[in-house]
Amino acid sequence: MAKMYYDNDADLSLLKGKKIAVLGYGSQGHAQAQSLQDSGLDVIVAEIKGSKSWDRAVADGMKVTTTAEAAEQADMIHILLPDEVQAEVYRESIAPHLKAGNIIGFSHGFNIHFAQIVPPEDVDVIMIAPKGPGHLVRRQFKEGAGVPCLIAVQQDYSGKARDIALAFAKGIGGTRAGVLETTFKEETETDLFGEQAVLCGGLTHLIRSGFETLVEAGYQPEVAYFECLHEMKLIVDLIYEGGIANMRYSISDTAEWGDIATGPRIITDETKKEMKKVLEEIQDGKFAQGWILENKAGRPMYNAIVKRDKAHQIETVGKELRGMMSWLKK
Ligand code: NDP
Ligand code: MG
Ligand code: MG
Repeated sequence: MAKMYYDNDADLSLLKGKKIAVLGYGSQGHAQAQSLQDSGLDVIVAEIKGSKSWDRAVADGMKVTTTAEAAEQADMIHILLPDEVQAEVYRESIAPHLKAGNIIGFSHGFNIHFAQIVPPEDVDVIMIAPKGPGHLVRRQFKEGAGVPCLIAVQQDYSGKARDIALAFAKGIGGTRAGVLETTFKEETETDLFGEQAVLCGGLTHLIRSGFETLVEAGYQPEVAYFECLHEMKLIVDLIYEGGIANMRYSISDTAEWGDIATGPRIITDETKKEMKKVLEEIQDGKFAQGWILENKAGRPMYNAIVKRDKAHQIETVGKELRGMMSWLKK
């Protein structure tokens, strides 16, 4: 089994006396910045002046300044901006202020792996990537727990880059849950593949195809919604708790027979062949190229499809049904 690192493997004092600039106060930024500060580290947040995130950081008791100012002052610059804006912000407001021995941190490897950001040789380049959304990172930290993290070292100028990444993971509670070492390449490629083929792309299209099949056959959309979307969470919870075997133990034998007999007709050898192609296009940079160009063009396809999908019947029916589910948080 791969080696896991815990609290005792990490030395927070490696970051004591260093000024850490957290760039961006969004999902990951707010969670990591506050937790590092609670861990007794010297943190400064960088945001766009006058933005809502700036105000939120001030309200949370953080020191806040501009990106250029933070990059100038900091020993470690941790970039938690949206991946699509990181390269431009790096060129304009970070690179001019970098000093030998600085540390540049990320929570996702996209910009380093696809060479959208190419730091100078005299800095450390590390990754600390929590395997969970920012709000969970913060909540777990406050409860004395943590979210598992991946760490990686791309450049080790100081000779201590790995230990610094571990210290950082400790500062956000990651070593309480367990830290696994990876590379920028592995994290980037597996993360992109997972969200495209399984977690997001695969799942949403599976749900919608099932929903459409039932509705087109004349069944009530409300029933189709419960069957294909609502119940998904209940099934996934069982898988999360005890694996696929545990889920199969809980469902009826009829459902289990349907799972093993029909599943391979839905996710076929063709599907897996396509997954391999998707992975190749991540590995050879074709996906990254498409996404970078889409952003440069002002996201015409992204905007059109997101808008169209918001009007899909599964969304309108779901909104009404969820309105009647008093136990769901608004
Ligand atoms: P968010 O979009 O939630 O937050 C980004 C923050 O950056 C926002 O506060 C935004 O401000 C601010 N921002 C946007 N543009 C600029 C700019 N030009 N200059 C300064 N600040 C700016 O991002 P995430 O937290 O989701 O992602 C950050 C990084 O963490 C990414 O690399 C992502 O891949 C990684 N990651 C994210 C996870 C997640 O669960 N979200 C999980 C693991 C890794 P405003 O709100 O005002 O627009
Ligand atoms: Mg991702
Ligand atoms: Mg059933």
